[in-house]
Parts: sequence; structure tokens; C-alpha cells
Amino acid sequence: MKMQNNHSKIIINFAGDEEALKTFANYIKDKQIFENDANVIIESDDVVFQIPKTTNYYNKKKEIKILLKNFLKEFYKFKDILEFQNIFVVGITKHLTEISDIVQCEICGFSVNTEEELLIHRRMHGMI
Ligand SMILES: [Zn+2]
Repeated sequence: MKMQNNHSKIIINFAGDEEALKTFANYIKDKQIFENDANVIIESDDVVFQIPKTTNYYNKKKEIKILLKNFLKEFYKFKDILEFQNIFVVGITKHLTEISDIVQCEICGFSVNTEEELLIHRRMHGMI
């Protein structure tokens, strides 16, 4: 079938959280968006958006990301999104990451809380 060639996929993975997946599936059903220009299918713990090649992929991806963010804000405040090429992974709670993620400078061993702080710190060593 030609179907695959006419679509790009954007995948939202719920990292095994069936409840969040179901809630999201209902959420987008209620919103009734993407009706005309994208199909939504559920595959195990993924929500897959099939984006027609005729639709602007990057705009659609942006739209889906905003949708997902609004969804998380409303239902799962502590979940965070990891973004890969065409995959959004809804995973580890923010709360846990904040506690467990102590980032260390590999040059001097200085500890900071976020990757951003580490970037700022690394600049002091003359690294980019
Ligand atoms: Zn350092």
C-alpha cells in the first residue's frame, strides 16, 4: 500500500503509562482537532499522528507539542517531555528529575542542578 509514503509520523510515547495514554486519547478526541489533515492511531503505548505530506510537517509538530504541553499542564503537572526527531516521550516526573539530577562538571567536579547551569559554569573553563 502507498499509505506509508504519503504520511510522516509524529509519535507521542507514554513510557508505559496506560492511564496517561488513555487520558490523552480522550483529550484529543474531545478537542476534535486534526480531523481533516491528520490521522491519530494508538499503537501499544504510542499515540501516532499520521501527517499527510501535503501538510506542513514542522507546523504540525509545533501544534502537537503545544497540545501536549497544555494536556500535561492540565492533567499531569509533574510529567516532562523529552523531544527527539519525530518522537515526544512523556516520562519521568519533573519532581524526581529535579531531585536526582545533580549535574557535575567533568573538569573540576563542581555540582549544579541543571544542564543550563553546567553550560554557564563550563564557559568559565573556556569551553563552549
Ligand atoms: Zn568546572
